[in-house]
Amino acid sequence: MYFPSWLSQLYRGLSRPIRRTTQPIWGSLSRSLVLSSQRRNPEFSSFVVRTNTCGELRSSHLGQEVTLCGWIQYRRQNTFLVLRDFHGLVQVIIPQDESAASVRKILCEAPMESVVQVSGTVISRPAGQENPKMPTGEIEIKVKTAELLNACKKLPFEIKDFMKKTEALRLQYRYLDLRSFQMQYNLRLRSQMVMKMREYLCNLHGFVDIETPTLFKRTPGGAKEFLVPSREPGKFYSLPQSPQQFKQLLMVGGLDRYFQVARCYRDEGSRPDRQPEFTQIDIEMSFVDQTGIQSLIEGLLQYSWPNDKNPVVVPFPSMTFAEALATYGTDKPDTRFGMKIIDISDVFRNTEIGFLQDALSKPHGTVKAICIPEGAKYFKRKDIESIRKFSADHFDQEILPVFLNTNRNWNSPVANFIMELKRQELIRLMETQEEDVVLLTAGEHNKACSLLGKLRLECADLLETRGVVLRDPTLFSFLWVVDFPLFLPKEENPRELESAHHPFTAPHPSDIHLLYTEPKKVRSQHYDLVLNGNEIGGGSIRIHNAELQQYILATLLKEDVKLLSHMLQALDYGAPPHGGIALGLDRLICVVTGSPSIRDVIAFPKSFRGHDLMSNTPDSIPPEELKPYHIQVSWPTDSKAAKAH
Ligand code: ASP
Repeated sequence: MYFPSWLSQLYRGLSRPIRRTTQPIWGSLSRSLVLSSQRRNPEFSSFVVRTNTCGELRSSHLGQEVTLCGWIQYRRQNTFLVLRDFHGLVQVIIPQDESAASVRKILCEAPMESVVQVSGTVISRPAGQENPKMPTGEIEIKVKTAELLNACKKLPFEIKDFMKKTEALRLQYRYLDLRSFQMQYNLRLRSQMVMKMREYLCNLHGFVDIETPTLFKRTPGGAKEFLVPSREPGKFYSLPQSPQQFKQLLMVGGLDRYFQVARCYRDEGSRPDRQPEFTQIDIEMSFVDQTGIQSLIEGLLQYSWPNDKNPVVVPFPSMTFAEALATYGTDKPDTRFGMKIIDISDVFRNTEIGFLQDALSKPHGTVKAICIPEGAKYFKRKDIESIRKFSADHFDQEILPVFLNTNRNWNSPVANFIMELKRQELIRLMETQEEDVVLLTAGEHNKACSLLGKLRLECADLLETRGVVLRDPTLFSFLWVVDFPLFLPKEENPRELESAHHPFTAPHPSDIHLLYTEPKKVRSQHYDLVLNGNEIGGGSIRIHNAELQQYILATLLKEDVKLLSHMLQALDYGAPPHGGIALGLDRLICVVTGSPSIRDVIAFPKSFRGHDLMSNTPDSIPPEELKPYHIQVSWPTDSKAAKAH
């Protein structure tokens, strides 16, 4: 049970894959992690007391006197000790002779995970005792001196990747969780990719890395923002959702090509792909169009992509928002598998089946279906029941399961009736095979598509839990989604409009006239980047005309333009045409590393409820410290929070 020396591969560009170990988690780490143009090997032992890292020693070091520092991973029969650092593991022989009694005492008595420094000679292991699973498995260290640098108390969990631990415990002891191989891998891969992105943007394409403020003011529309009190009564800063306004102002300032690894804040609570503070690779350019931004991003991802992963194929395919919704029921389609939504309205135009006729007679009424490959084989009746219940509960929609190639419609007279009438036509349209199940629904276009899009993903998950391979986990399927509507109806009041992206997004040039007549029909110059069904980036060409910006903000979005007077003013001083994009770095790294949550690629993430479980953040502040901010807490009377105080 040894860690592979993946790190040296990360830096040195060795192409030889390291052997798989018996532990599955290490297996996934054992692929070589070589970033394409890494030329120099970093020096890991400069400026410090060690001469080498634990993971780097090989037969070529035989006879060398080395000093190593690391944590005690294993001890066997008071004879061997395995020392670990970020680079790997090395075996140390505990001396048995009397003259080395003090060294033996230190190495035998130090608890696991204590940090020690040892000095000694690199020797070869006795013949037959080499460990091929361990990159340092041909050698061991004959120790001369040892020092206990710091002892480790009883651990809340073992630092071994295969030991299951709850996420809450991992977050509470994050500094210990970070010692795990998986976290080391994730954070180092992240650092490497960011390094390559900087190189690509700044060195190859002349971008300027500029920091923008994190104490800012409220932005109209968009996500909820965190407030920061100020000492002026009733005045607050806001933490920015993104550097959007600053990057546009940098274009007005002639900075031309901006980028930043930017921390952004949204007061939205955590989800597997979301947390209150997150990082964007934020980009803005002057004199650019949509194609220019897309090519830049394709090049950026290709350049920074780890070599051990399936390569990024460019250009990325592109799909309109309308097509994404109609075919996949979402604006972030997972295009790694089929099961697309098919419109079968025409088959039923003159139907006598009441509920279909009813649906088709309404505005935007449709009949749609998806085909679940081998659903009859893998789904149980109770699976279909729960699909139907989900559809009724969450979408207020009926789902009809239809077995087109057999007569097994689970006692559904409607399904049988449909079958008799339309079997051949539907088999042809849906391309069904023996054992497939068709899930059919009727209703308003968007609603029917959204439901089937959701069921498509649910069914894919279900099929995969039953052993069907639908989505290749090593495949990276990028997709541009374009031609979004400029506005969407507001959720809380559908008669009002809100920006689909943000209010600075420019309308599609061919739809500008509609702004003044049918704003809902205006498409925008907004593009999203989707990877394996995750939105990993989004951006737009911006409005650079103050009058148009004012009209959209004030007349169409009914926003308080005073909040944005600085932006409107700036546009009037020769603002260049410009556009940009932001990549969600956490999500991107999460997909690249195949992690279940973005919290696995962030060093110190917040919990689901937005708390830092390690330091107990957010924390209460004594009333006297709140006084300078003119803030008083009004405690809820019946909540647990009140009881706690
Ligand atoms: N600032 C935008 C966002 O955070 C991205 C952009 O339009 O460049 O979504």
